Amino acid sequence: MASILLYGSNTEKIPYVLNEAKKIQSEFGADEILALVIGNREDAQKLVNCGVDKVIFASGEGKFPETVSEIVAKVMEKYEASTLVMLNQPFEVEIAGRVSTKIEASCLTDCLAIKKDGDGSLIAEKMLYGGVVIGNYKLTNNSIVVTLNENSCREIYKNEENNLSTFSEETFETKPLKKKITQTREIEQTVDLKSSRKIVSIGRGINKQEDIGIVEQLANAIGAQLGCSRPIVEDFKWLKPERQVGLTGTIVAPDLYVAIGISGQIQHAVGIKDAKVIVAINNNKNAPIFEIADYGIVGDLYEVVPKLQQALQAVVNK
Ligand SMILES: Cc1cc2nc3c(=O)[nH]c(=O)nc-3n(C[C@H](O)[C@H](O)[C@H](O)COP(=O)(O)OP(=O)(O)OC[C@H]3O[C@@H](n4cnc5c(N)ncnc54)[C@H](O)[C@@H]3O)c2cc1C
Repeated sequence: MASILLYGSNTEKIPYVLNEAKKIQSEFGADEILALVIGNREDAQKLVNCGVDKVIFASGEGKFPETVSEIVAKVMEKYEASTLVMLNQPFEVEIAGRVSTKIEASCLTDCLAIKKDGDGSLIAEKMLYGGVVIGNYKLTNNSIVVTLNENSCREIYKNEENNLSTFSEETFETKPLKKKITQTREIEQTVDLKSSRKIVSIGRGINKQEDIGIVEQLANAIGAQLGCSRPIVEDFKWLKPERQVGLTGTIVAPDLYVAIGISGQIQHAVGIKDAKVIVAINNNKNAPIFEIADYGIVGDLYEVVPKLQQALQAVVNK
């Protein structure tokens, strides 16, 4: 195998895909692992001790998919990289599609892992049907573009031998952008459920928006973030989409997940399958959430939650 190229619009995220890239390198005998940073030399320099063989800094516009995909494709050609590995994030997914058409690569997004098939070809694993089964995809092209599911890349690569990378600087001509940015603003995000260690989530068992306060008090008592099921966002519009847990929301992996008035349909359950401990409060003892919960309380949330909050608060105040 030729070299493996790693790219991430957020440079700090690149070391998270390095464990999987090292595995691909050793299984397929890839020449080198390269990391590409576009536009910010300082960010590129920070990567020299992360464990890749070479850091490539390319000057140019690093914010737009059009220019980034052009530069990535040119770097792959110049450095004879056959495989592009990125974290599965919205910008990177767009880059994956654009680069794979430019270099005629097999492309698969949101992969869980990469492994070698019996005949030596590369197999990528990906969740299907909301995580009910795992599909094995054989990527047969000589060039491959994959994005890796964030929950499969939670560990940063430990460069225990402290190998320093070589550093190259490049300038590539890119086509002029057809659009002009006249104004930019930061997207307001108040919560990052992906990295939350404790989450207390509400579902349709909550009768009205004002009642969310009862659950918020419980969340505050244990230092948890507030999450929710889809109807709370889509149907009632009581909370912002960033708080939705599940297949089309955020896949979370907290130490503690408390599901309150949530039935536990598959699209929600798949989003919490990596939670270490799941506690469910539901007035229906047959609710599917109890099949995946470690601890369950069958009861009316309007009675259970305030009592639980008071009990926990008393422990915290001790
Ligand atoms: C393509 C697709 C993608 C989807 N993606 C997602 C997703 O990302 N996340 C997601 O959550 N859903 C998603 N859904 C929707 C999903 O199928 C369920 O409809 C949704 O999760 C149900 O939300 P819920 O559990 O809050 O509501 P319900 O299923 O209505 O459950 C409410 C629960 O509250 C309990 N309850 C009622 N009153 C009380 C009370 N007083 N005390 C205690 N318990 C009470 C009930 O017993 C019930 O179990 C998706 C669906 C589709 C088709």
